[in-house]
Amino acid sequence: MLVVMQHDATADEVRRVVETIEEMGYQARPIAGAQRTAVGLVGNDGRVDATRLAALRGVKEIIHVTQPYKQVSREWRPEPTVVQLPGGVRIGGSDVVVIAGPCSVESEQQILEAARLVRDGGATLLRGGAFKPRTSPYSFQGLGKKGLKLLARARDETGLLVVTEALDPEGVDTVAEYADVIQVGARSMQNFSLLKRAGRCGKPVLLKRGIAATITELLLSAEYLLAEGNQNVILCERGIRGFDSATRNVFDLTAIPVVKELSHLPIVADPSHGTGRRSKVIPMARAAVAAGADGLLVEVHPQPDRALSDGEQALFPEQFTAMMREVAAIAEAIGRKLAEPAPVGA
Ligand code: PEP
Ligand code: MN
Repeated sequence: MLVVMQHDATADEVRRVVETIEEMGYQARPIAGAQRTAVGLVGNDGRVDATRLAALRGVKEIIHVTQPYKQVSREWRPEPTVVQLPGGVRIGGSDVVVIAGPCSVESEQQILEAARLVRDGGATLLRGGAFKPRTSPYSFQGLGKKGLKLLARARDETGLLVVTEALDPEGVDTVAEYADVIQVGARSMQNFSLLKRAGRCGKPVLLKRGIAATITELLLSAEYLLAEGNQNVILCERGIRGFDSATRNVFDLTAIPVVKELSHLPIVADPSHGTGRRSKVIPMARAAVAAGADGLLVEVHPQPDRALSDGEQALFPEQFTAMMREVAAIAEAIGRKLAEPAPVGA
């Protein structure tokens, strides 16, 4: 439920609404927007007496949020959320951000080389898994904490911000020490204890859509993060499982405008996992930007044929450069532009 204030409501009137919500045994979340100030009521068990709130001074109207998710919905917050990162990098505004790098951090040389090449191509954030969710326990599991340290070194050298995955609740704080954005992977989208911990970690979270998750389920998982107080959530469409082996997944581009309509959160697209085939990544990257994605998450490797994970979908360095040129033109055609990398040491 949302208590929308009159445009000239005073700070005291807003405070009284907050106190009343708390007296009623719920949590209050004031939301100061450009169009309106509202106070969200969290923990609604269906028995809220709205008349008590409607009668308070300065209250314009009470809105019952109709979706199962609340704080992530457009009803809750009509303006888009812009996630602010160090160095002035913004996700969800008019800029389109590019997050690029290898699937896994494999060695110092590999990640530094990858970081330099994606930075030179115009990426703003570096990706690379240190803790890898692998289907087989015998596949490369990642370098763990050593991988996080290498990512931090790559950030120091290139100025790129770091996105990397936390696999379990116990690992969140360690990953948060090194990462600028914590990734929650597709396989973990409904790991609710991981989501709760990530919601309290103080860093922005990039939440990937589960392998067989509906958009409602994705948004409900995001709700866990916001319910814990983390407003800095970036959604990611990375393809869902289909029946056709022509591609690794079915890259659901429609999810981008659908999510934009239902939620104020930014959404980026991952055409690498979405297609699983190198030759399909660039066309779908172009399409994702055209569809309104706030960014791209793309796997790039200095030597894809030697990659320890996801080599078949990693772009070669020169392909990445070509992709950046093309997506920059598409962004411009729809009134956007690619984000500038943060200055080194920001
Ligand atoms: C990844 O980003 O390398 C990854 C494992 O992605 P997903 O969780 O989407 O499979
Ligand atoms: Mn991968």
